[in-house]
Amino acid sequence: MHRKHHAYTDIEGDPHSPVLLGWKKVQAKNVALYRATVLDPTTIDRYAKDLPDDRWDKLFFGHNKTGLLSGIAILMIALGPWTGLLAAFIHANVYLASNAAVNALGHHFGRRPYDNRATNLQWLAFFTMGEGLHNNHHAAPSSPRLSHRWFQVDPGWWVIKTLTTLRLATVRFSDIRLTATAKASFN
Ligand SMILES: [Zn+2]
Ligand SMILES: [Zn+2]
Repeated sequence: MHRKHHAYTDIEGDPHSPVLLGWKKVQAKNVALYRATVLDPTTIDRYAKDLPDDRWDKLFFGHNKTGLLSGIAILMIALGPWTGLLAAFIHANVYLASNAAVNALGHHFGRRPYDNRATNLQWLAFFTMGEGLHNNHHAAPSSPRLSHRWFQVDPGWWVIKTLTTLRLATVRFSDIRLTATAKASFN
């Protein structure tokens, strides 16, 4: 889904473009848009050939709602049934709404230091582990670091740095690799 979005950013074929659909529709219907695209087998064939289901996906997570339900169960066991349910409800809504916001608001409102349709929204980046710096992401899509300037705050990058320091993760490209268009257009 996300690779298709990069292949057709804000042109015909983009599964969740505010330019084509309007930002309100993308914000409200993001989940439905994802479902429609990933249920189409040509999407998987074309964009996710190198990402086959692993053992855990085949056994467990690939089956309908098992991932979601086991998360809720863990919260209910850890926090007690009602607090756990409430935490799951809040988490699901914040997660779904902020994911939708990156796709909707992050292609409509905000700054565009690089010449692409996506936008940087620092306030959204606080909620989304840096994903709100979405103009930067489209300018350097292979970079795990989403902050490109000293004043931009990217909490996801702090987590990645901590994990790499602890040798729990490796980063393929730690430098910011701008696309050719981004290099030419930075202002
Ligand atoms: Zn985007
Ligand atoms: Zn991306």
